[in-house]
Amino acid sequence: MNVADSARLARALSQLLYEETSRVEEADLIVLNTCVVRQSAEDKALGRLNSIKPLKAQNPKLIIALMGCLIGVQGNPAMQKRFPWVDVFSAPSDPAPILNFLEKHQDRVIAGSWREDVDAVLDEEFGLSANASGREISENLPIVLGCSHACAYCVIPARRGREVSRDANKILNEAQTMVAEGVKEIVLLGQIVDRYGLDKAGSPHLPELMEQMAAIPGLLRLRFLTSHPNWMSDELIDTVARVPKIMPHIEVPIQAGDDQILADMRRGYTQSQYRDLVAKLRERIPGVSIATDIIVGFPGESETAFMKTYDLLNELKLDVAHLARYSPRPNTFSQRFLEDNVPAEEKMRRFRLLETLQEGITAGLNQAYLGQVLPVLFEGKSKNRWRGRTPNNRLVFVENEADLRGQELQVKINWTGPWTLLGELA
Ligand code: SAH
Repeated sequence: MNVADSARLARALSQLLYEETSRVEEADLIVLNTCVVRQSAEDKALGRLNSIKPLKAQNPKLIIALMGCLIGVQGNPAMQKRFPWVDVFSAPSDPAPILNFLEKHQDRVIAGSWREDVDAVLDEEFGLSANASGREISENLPIVLGCSHACAYCVIPARRGREVSRDANKILNEAQTMVAEGVKEIVLLGQIVDRYGLDKAGSPHLPELMEQMAAIPGLLRLRFLTSHPNWMSDELIDTVARVPKIMPHIEVPIQAGDDQILADMRRGYTQSQYRDLVAKLRERIPGVSIATDIIVGFPGESETAFMKTYDLLNELKLDVAHLARYSPRPNTFSQRFLEDNVPAEEKMRRFRLLETLQEGITAGLNQAYLGQVLPVLFEGKSKNRWRGRTPNNRLVFVENEADLRGQELQVKINWTGPWTLLGELA
């Protein structure tokens, strides 16, 4: 979501004649977009912010903007007090304060035809076409902003605000613009993306929206994330199975394998319901890959409770597990009412155990692709190799002299590891 917000702002800025630089000392404008989902992310953001402060002394015209969840939709007066040298503060998914600031301080910024451009930028939201900054082959498109679920540990609802589904026509127009500009794959985003449209009378729901989007000529692939087990309807699952452009890859976090922990997390399902969902996905969507998220060391997680997570992962053999150590976040239910009572070293030990387990599982699953021929959409080059993805989201590298960017080509897999596959054009 932050990547999508940053890309949107970057396109808006290039519309206003800003150019991107990779050298921070050269910049006239620095926007720090921040994540605070865990303390480590917040610390990183604050460290980065302090590291750019000296640049102000060197370049008095420098504008520094702080954006994202460190600020939040309610605003954050404490941050404004703590960092008086920051020029402008902006909520997640809201570039308006930054653009308005630039318009107001034209003596400090480069020339542009401001008001009209700023209005156009704010109106077009994520679909804005930009002359200067290019499109990726795979672009993110937020369709649900905010979240109203309130998991006990999660700060996102407070910082990104309540759930709001974006207007379907706007989304489809933006998708069309993207495809016209060379985008081949669109990734629809939402904290609970399956809930798209449920908060809005008359709105299409996710299956219908994806079917309409899949009809855009030139679009090759459609993905969506993140799913929540309670909102993955049969209709959604069948739509993924039926519509060829919707890729067979589901991101559906379980978070923990113990029912008491799941209840304390306020996730709203049991481990056996999750297990049934996995079975259903595998039965109805041939070749589906499933990614999950896990938090280890949630308050009260005993060794026995942790081992239920371990055993479940071991049994389900999912394709990917994003692992995190529990981090108490300000004003969440768990931070206020549950003691963070799993020691840091123990959280680390559990994290490492799951990491090793999952590495083995993924390596084993990947081995099955050896010798197979798979359609790979190439996104770009990393070092001297082309980088692409299979329909079920496996990363593939191919050495080739030709320009493969944006092409979907058949690749024969001749090496597999836990993180990547290597192959050659078939
Ligand atoms: N909306 C998605 C996930 C968004 S946050 C969902 O409902 O699953 C991405 C991941 O960060 C979460 O899935 C969770 O595993 C992790 N996370 C969120 N809050 C956390 C916290 N306080 N401590 C550790 N990990 C956390």
